[in-house]
Amino acid sequence: MRLAWGPAEESFRDELSAFLDEHAPLEASVRYDFATAEGSDGSIPAWSRTWQATLFDHGWMIPGYPRDLGGRDATPVQTLVYLEEMAARGVSRSLHFPGYAIVAPSLLEFGTEAQRALVPAAIRGDTVWCIGMSEPNAGSDLAGLSTRAELDGDSFVVNGQKVWTSYATIAEKCCLYVRTDPAAPKHKGISLLIVDMDTPGVEVRPLRHINGAADFAEVFFTDVRIPAENLVGSLNDGWRLTQGSLAHERSGLWVEGVARLEHGVTGLIDLARECGVSDDPNVRRRIAEMYARASSLRALGYKGLASPDSGRMSPEHTYMKLASSEATSALFELGMDIQGAYGPVTDAVRGAEHGRWPLGFLITFANTIAGGSSEIQRNIIAQRVLGLPRT
Ligand SMILES: Cc1cc2nc3c(=O)[nH]c(=O)nc-3n(C[C@H](O)[C@H](O)[C@H](O)COP(=O)(O)OP(=O)(O)OC[C@H]3O[C@@H](n4cnc5c(N)ncnc54)[C@H](O)[C@@H]3O)c2cc1C
Repeated sequence: MRLAWGPAEESFRDELSAFLDEHAPLEASVRYDFATAEGSDGSIPAWSRTWQATLFDHGWMIPGYPRDLGGRDATPVQTLVYLEEMAARGVSRSLHFPGYAIVAPSLLEFGTEAQRALVPAAIRGDTVWCIGMSEPNAGSDLAGLSTRAELDGDSFVVNGQKVWTSYATIAEKCCLYVRTDPAAPKHKGISLLIVDMDTPGVEVRPLRHINGAADFAEVFFTDVRIPAENLVGSLNDGWRLTQGSLAHERSGLWVEGVARLEHGVTGLIDLARECGVSDDPNVRRRIAEMYARASSLRALGYKGLASPDSGRMSPEHTYMKLASSEATSALFELGMDIQGAYGPVTDAVRGAEHGRWPLGFLITFANTIAGGSSEIQRNIIAQRVLGLPRT
């Protein structure tokens, strides 16, 4: 069976294709599977800033949004066609997703008029944002966060520490989750503040990924004064906002996850030929299995879109983050196996594709942790989708 879009969707795709052919810079189509991230300090290259602004100005940054927010009021199906076409070409919209993917929808839903005015720059990429949720003792158990904010006159005074904060080294603003009522039950004493990263008392110390890239950090807050009007939503209602943020982070990611897998399968086929093992029945079977995994995930993604729960996180899409991140790990591991003894070699001379497979393998673990670890995803599926009892 071959699934296909109708003429209206294909004409939407044609319009997008014409735009991409004319405007997309070559660099935006270089797939980033972390093989080249070594030594990166997380800074955003000029071409990427220009490209994100161009997408916004032409209504192609978030097609489902109105014109003044970088979109064109596209329908959900058109948005899917957009995501698919971008993923099929390997074109990335932006190299810093929190602003357009998490901050923008959160501020549009919960922000004051002044806070909503920050949204266009977040989507256009003019302002770089980071998200301060995780702490040394609060990751999976996010509600246990202890960074404290006390109201003092017309300011909050913030003390504490965040960790694993992506883009903190370059961000101008942070959506910071803080404890504002330590006496309340832990889900009920959390609030969200907008913090300018150059406020006195904010200290950022870069952390390195296993492949050498340093695009996340620890962030320390010492007597940081934040204007009270930077509170987003109501005081102590931050837990509800965290749930919105995480949903925004997860929705739509499946398309990119599946495309990355499909692209990886093509890479495996080329690699097997290059290594002279493309006739080996075991290698052929394992690549075919990977192809089947990618195809079934794509079908599941479509099913989720068509499910009656559409608009909220569907059961299918709840599973997609877990399944695609773990399949991608298995895919890169297979790439190493195919190379035999040279599998773990990363140098440009002996390692295939400049160490794409071992470096890619190492960094795939990040996706099984960020935005909620695989174990936590399994808990969510068990409890909220399957209705199993908590142990
Ligand atoms: C690349 C990357 C980028 C990130 N970016 C950000 C960011 O921008 N902002 C931010 O705030 N955070 C960010 N994070 C942090 C991320 O959200 C946390 O790492 C994640 O939620 C896990 O928390 P933790 O690291 O504290 O691990 P822990 O919660 O300490 O978990 C340790 C282990 O125990 C398991 N575990 C914990 N609780 C349970 C349970 N109840 N049942 C079963 N197993 C359990 C976990 O699955 C994990 O294997 C990022 C992480 C990564 C890897």
